Amino acid sequence: MVKIQSTIPPIETHCIAGHAKTEANTYTDPAGHRHCRTCSRRRTTAWHHGTAKQRYKAERIQKREAYQLPPLGSPNYDPLFGAWLSGLVDGEGYFLATLPTRGLNCRFGVNLRADDGEILYEIQRVLGAGKMNYHRRRSTAPETHRPQYSFVIRDLMDLYQIVLPQFDTYPLRAKKARDYAVWREIIILAAAHRRTPGTTLVRALYGKLAPLVQALHQGREYRGPCPAYNPVNKAPPPGRRSGP
Ligand SMILES: [Zn+2]
Repeated sequence: MVKIQSTIPPIETHCIAGHAKTEANTYTDPAGHRHCRTCSRRRTTAWHHGTAKQRYKAERIQKREAYQLPPLGSPNYDPLFGAWLSGLVDGEGYFLATLPTRGLNCRFGVNLRADDGEILYEIQRVLGAGKMNYHRRRSTAPETHRPQYSFVIRDLMDLYQIVLPQFDTYPLRAKKARDYAVWREIIILAAAHRRTPGTTLVRALYGKLAPLVQALHQGREYRGPCPAYNPVNKAPPPGRRSGP
């Protein structure tokens, strides 16, 4: 499998104008952005008393600040819910990314038989994001197939600010953890370029995105049965794949 290094930027120590981002020199807005107080004071001064050039410069710094990614937070709901959700997603969830030329498509979702739909509504309520869809049984499908509810989050910043903290805090344990590790990098990359239009983004970042999207698809390959658990000597039984 492709080994992926985290591209998460460390918490900034300095603002883009070079002022130290200490506790005293920053304030955090409701979206989680940390702003430099020195810059914002200068902006106010420039606006009221500065020349046109000073105003222009101060505004440009403000705009550049607005492009920065907010830091990843942590979930603010019941830890029992978080742990339960990761368990459910290990079984029934999916992490998807496709790369058509018109832009990157990312989503996270869970599908369940329609009589379990209520718990999907609960997930939507607790996370405060995503959409619900109802899928009837196709007329060509076997009689045993049941209608389904699907819960899906497509909004990139919801994926970044809600889905990543969930699965970073309550890690997946099954094979979906491999999907998630790759998908997470795609989301961070896309979120960092969220203001770049779709086609431009694909052209500019194709070299980085395409291997990740490919790794995401390859991560689903079957790898043979895992070694039977043997608490005495932990050696895999003969005939099974041998680990490193
Ligand atoms: Zn500053």
